[in-house]
Amino acid sequence: MSDSELLSRAKKAPATAGSRTVITAQYGRSPYVAAYAKRRAAGICELCEKPAPFITKDGEPYLECHHIEWLARGGEDTIENTVALCPNCHRKMHVLNNSTDITHLNKKTGENIDLQNQDNEPSLL
Ligand SMILES: [Zn+2]
Ligand SMILES: [Zn+2]
Repeated sequence: MSDSELLSRAKKAPATAGSRTVITAQYGRSPYVAAYAKRRAAGICELCEKPAPFITKDGEPYLECHHIEWLARGGEDTIENTVALCPNCHRKMHVLNNSTDITHLNKKTGENIDLQNQDNEPSLL
């Protein structure tokens, strides 16, 4: 589509979008699994390894929880399947779901679980 064609279609779109009801599946998610993934990440995105882009009003680094194997595809809401990502990486996983990235994330959750077992400390939560 040419630029002018796109512009003319964009201009024709109704300025006030009609309201419609969208039904999405809701999956049960444990707040503890999400909190654990964020604590494990310690403010660093588990994919790009960069610090969270900003700090929330609660003083927490802003990261988003992502299920490596999507819940919609039968993935489980467990700490092994949940990672904390910066918004860019989170979006990237949903747009590309690149196998290299998946391998990286699976390795991260695996490593952390091993460390925890070696330390033999009680769970963080
Ligand atoms: Zn990232
Ligand atoms: Zn996600």
